[in-house]
Amino acid sequence: MEHYDVIVIGAGHAGVEAANISEKYGLKTALITKNISDLGKLSCNPSIGGVGKTHIASEVDILGGVICKIGDKSAIHYRVLNLSKGPAVWGVRAQIDRDLYSKYMQKYIKSSKIDVIEDEAINILEKNNKIVGVECLSAGKIKSKVVILTTGTFLNGKIYFGREVKEAGRIGNSSSKELAKFINKNFTMSWNLSLQKIMEYISPILQNKIRTKISIATLQKQIIKLIK
Ligand SMILES: Cc1cc2nc3c(=O)[nH]c(=O)nc-3n(C[C@H](O)[C@H](O)[C@H](O)COP(=O)(O)OP(=O)(O)OC[C@H]3O[C@@H](n4cnc5c(N)ncnc54)[C@H](O)[C@@H]3O)c2cc1C
Repeated sequence: MEHYDVIVIGAGHAGVEAANISEKYGLKTALITKNISDLGKLSCNPSIGGVGKTHIASEVDILGGVICKIGDKSAIHYRVLNLSKGPAVWGVRAQIDRDLYSKYMQKYIKSSKIDVIEDEAINILEKNNKIVGVECLSAGKIKSKVVILTTGTFLNGKIYFGREVKEAGRIGNSSSKELAKFINKNFTMSWNLSLQKIMEYISPILQNKIRTKISIATLQKQIIKLIK
């Protein structure tokens, strides 16, 4: 059985940052994700920063994280929001090319010593009240001293399209029901933690066939101002 210092479950924003820092500390690290193609997948609105999130991205950057570095490589548009107001509420927002971001993130992680495991984590292993690893659907039990859970919106995830309801982590990804069941059962007993519901809403996104009908030439250009 493989032994790791750290196993990170989930390879979204949070997971890649956790695995990256763990590897930088010289720890033997595994990153488990349901799909390798999900590695570093951005949320529906592929922007980084903005009011309220700029400082988080910057702090992660200063602490050695990858979000801003990969973000800069794949950015297509920058804006400083709230420039008409005081500096306390300025926020840099970079609009990112989703495909490029994933491509560069996958390249970065593949060039590191992080072991990427494409599998579904279904259980967290425990012995004498201590976490000792993870059980995966295909790979079975993998030992680790530390397990970091960054499963985003996948635990018991559901998507609502109008009146239609589907079980899904997000579009194209299955919901993590087994792990959610495990957490609800065991975390509630041991630490009085249970899963809560969070709702995310997105506005309709224009399909390509409609997009091509937009007369780009008539649109007003946004002037990009960067803070020096
Ligand atoms: C419809 C929708 C719209 C959103 N829009 C925005 C937005 O516009 N802006 C914004 O900032 N945020 C948005 N979010 C929130 C978004 O989820 C987070 O911003 C961001 O993606 C969270 O990153 P994360 O790393 O926590 O999780 P995610 O990016 O969700 O990554 C979770 C990872 O965990 C993996 N995983 C899950 N369960 C398992 C398992 N059992 N075994 C192995 N791997 C597993 C998945 O494969 C995935 O790689 C939106 C969410 C949804 C659902």
